[in-house]
Amino acid sequence: TGFVSIRNLRKSYGSFEALKGIDLDVAKGEVVCIIGPSGSGKSTLIRCINRLEAFSEGSEIRVDGIPVTSGRALAKVRAEVGMVFQSFNLFPHLTVRQNVMLAPRRVRGTTRAEASAQADRLLDRVGIGNQADKYPEHLSGGQQQRVAIARALAMEPQVMLFDEPTSSLDPEMVGEVLDVMRDLARTGVTMIVVTHEMGFASQVADRVIFMDAGQIVEEGPPAQVLSHP
Ligand code: ADP
Ligand code: ADP
Repeated sequence: TGFVSIRNLRKSYGSFEALKGIDLDVAKGEVVCIIGPSGSGKSTLIRCINRLEAFSEGSEIRVDGIPVTSGRALAKVRAEVGMVFQSFNLFPHLTVRQNVMLAPRRVRGTTRAEASAQADRLLDRVGIGNQADKYPEHLSGGQQQRVAIARALAMEPQVMLFDEPTSSLDPEMVGEVLDVMRDLARTGVTMIVVTHEMGFASQVADRVIFMDAGQIVEEGPPAQVLSHP
C-alpha cells in the first residue's frame, strides 16, 4: 500500500454520487497529476484526503498509515498534509511573512524568531524573499500563490495537495507557479496535483490519473495517458 492509500472511496452529495469507489496508492516522493473533465470529481477526491470533505462509510483513506477519520488521528493527518487551493486564501490582514509564520506558531508553538527565520527561508525558496513585509493585496496572483505554497510548506508536510493551483491566475503568471512546483517535485516532495496544465503533467508527473464521472478511467505514465486525443 502507498504512503497515501485510498480504498473504495465513495462520496455522495444527496443522491448524486460524486466518487464511485476510487482506489489509489501514492508512493513517498511520487508526483501524481489528476486530470479529467470539469465535474468528474477531481477536487472532491483531493479534498477527501485531509477530510475537508467527509466521505461515505466503507471508504478508507490512510496517510502514512494513519486512518483519515476524525479527532486526534485527523489532526495528525492534517499536520502531514499541505494544501494549496485555486484561490490563495491568504489572510489579508497579515503580511506575507506573518501568513507563513502563523501555522508553526499556532499549531507547533514554534518561537517567533524561529518561525520568522523559517518563513524567510521559504519565501526565498519560492522566489519572493523581497516581498515578506507586504500585504497580500499588494502582490500579483502568481506571487500570492507562491506565498500560499510557502505557507503550506511551513508545516513541513509529508504530502502536498494542489487543487488547480494555476486556474485562477493570469496566463503570464502560470509559469512562475509551475516552476516552484517543478522544484518541489525535484526535491522529492510527494505531490498530488489536480491540474489542466498538460505540459506540467507530461513533464513532471510520475503518473497521470484520468478521471471521469467519479471514477478513475485510466492511469499510467504521462506518455501513455496523455498520448491519445
Ligand atoms: P472537478 O474537480 O472534477 O471539477 P468536483 O469534485 O468539484 O469536480 O465535483 C464533482 C461533482 O460533484 C460535480 O458534479 C459537482 O457539481 C458536484 N459537487 C461538488 N461539490 C458539491 C456540493 N457541495 N454539493 C453538491 N454537489 C457537489
Ligand atoms: P472549484 O472549481 O474551485 O471546485 P466549484 O464552482 O466547482 O469550484 O465549487 C465551488 C464550491 O461549490 C465548492 O465548495 C463545491 O463543493 C461547491 N459546489 C460545487 N458544485 C456544487 C453543486 N452542484 N451544488 C452545491 N455545491 C456545489
